[in-house]
Amino acid sequence: MNHQHAKILLWLIASGVVLGALLGWYAPETAVSLGVIGKLFLNALKMLIIPLIFAAVISGITALGDIRKLGRIGGITVSYYLITTGIAVFIGLIVVNFFQPGAGIDIGGGFLAERVEANQDKAATDILFELFHPNLVQAASETKLLPVIFFAILLGAALTTVGHSGESTIGFFNGLNDAMMKLVIWLMYTAPVGIFGLVAGRLGTARIEGDFVAEITAVGMHVVTVLSGLGIHFIILFLVLVFLARRGLPYLVSLMRALLTAFGTASSSATLPLTMECAREAGVDQRAVRFVIPLGSTLNMNGTALYEACAAMFIAQAYGVPLGVEAQLIIFVTATLAAVGAAGIPEAGLVTLVIVLNAVGLPLEGIGLLLAVDWFLDRFRTSINVWGDAVGAAVVHRFLPEIVEEPDAMREFAS
Ligand code: ASP
Repeated sequence: MNHQHAKILLWLIASGVVLGALLGWYAPETAVSLGVIGKLFLNALKMLIIPLIFAAVISGITALGDIRKLGRIGGITVSYYLITTGIAVFIGLIVVNFFQPGAGIDIGGGFLAERVEANQDKAATDILFELFHPNLVQAASETKLLPVIFFAILLGAALTTVGHSGESTIGFFNGLNDAMMKLVIWLMYTAPVGIFGLVAGRLGTARIEGDFVAEITAVGMHVVTVLSGLGIHFIILFLVLVFLARRGLPYLVSLMRALLTAFGTASSSATLPLTMECAREAGVDQRAVRFVIPLGSTLNMNGTALYEACAAMFIAQAYGVPLGVEAQLIIFVTATLAAVGAAGIPEAGLVTLVIVLNAVGLPLEGIGLLLAVDWFLDRFRTSINVWGDAVGAAVVHRFLPEIVEEPDAMREFAS
C-alpha cells in the first residue's frame, strides 16, 4: 500500500472509531443492528490468520537459512518479550499502589461466580501441552495459534536442513506468503467500515444492557488506574523503540492502523495480519516481522500483564486483604505467566486472571467487580499488546545484521 493510501486510510479508520462510538451512544438500537458489519470484518480477518501464520512463519524461518541463527533470534525475541512484560507488570503494581482504586469499594451485590468457575479449567492449561497439541487441524480450527506457530517453526527449521529437496516447498510458502499479504492489503481497505461496525455494535450493546456510565463510575478509579498504567507503558515502549530500535514517530504513525484495529476488535490475533503488514510497510525486515509478530500476538501481552496486576490488587483492596511485598512478588510472577498464557482473543485476560488470584488466595468472585467494564479496558490493553509486538519486531530488526551476516541477501529481502 502506498504512503498516500495508508495516510487516508488511517484517517478513515480513526473516523470509523469516533462515528461508531457516537452512534453507539446516541442510537444504540441502530448501532447494534449495524454491528453485523463489524462481525463480517472480524470473520474476514480471522479467515486469514491460519494460512498467514503458516506461510509467514515458515518463509521467515527458512529465510534465516540456518537453525543456529534461529536460536539467536529466538533468544533476543524471548528476552524482549519477558523483559517488557516484566516492566509492564511492575508499572501496573506501581500505579495500583499509588491510586489504591479498590479502597472504599462496596463489594455487595451478586457476582457472577459461575462464569469464573467455568473458566477455571481453561486457566490452568499447561502452556507446554499447548505447544505439543496432538491434533494440528483441530488446533487450527479452534484458532489456537500457539501449536500452529510452534509446528510452523519446527517445519521451517527442518526445511532448512534438507537441502535441495526442500527448495520447492520453501518457494511454495514464499509465494503463499506474498499472496496472503496481498489479501491483507485488500482487507485493510474495508477496515474503516468494519471497525465502525465493531465499535458501534459493542457500545450500543453496553448502552442497552445497562447504564454504562454508572458502571464506569462504580469502578472509576480502577479504570483510571489501568488507563494510566497503560499510558505509561506505551511511553516506555516508545522509548525502547527510540533507543533500542532507533526508530521514532513515523513508526508509530505507520502502526496506527493496526493499533486502531486492535482497539476495534479487542483481539491481537485478529489484528495480526494488519500488524505484520504495517510493520513491513514501515521497513522492518521481513524475517523479523514474520517471526516476532506472530509469536508475540499470542505470547507477548504487555497490556494484559499490566492489567492482571492492577486487577488482582484492586480485588485485594476491595476485599480488604492487605498484600505485602511477598504477595506482590507472587503477583509479579503469576501475572507475567498469565499474560503469556492468555490467548489473543477478547477478554482472555479476565480468564487467566484466575491464575493470579489463586496464587495469592484471593476470592475468584472478585472478578465479578470487573466484568462490567472489562470489554472497555480490553480494547486499550489489546492495543498495547499489539504495540509491544510491533516494537519487538523493530528491535529484532536492529539486531538482525549482527545475527545474519549477509548484507546482500538482506538488502534483497528488505526490498
Ligand atoms: N484481548 C486481549 C488480546 O487479544 C487479551 C486480553 O487481555 O484479554 O490481546
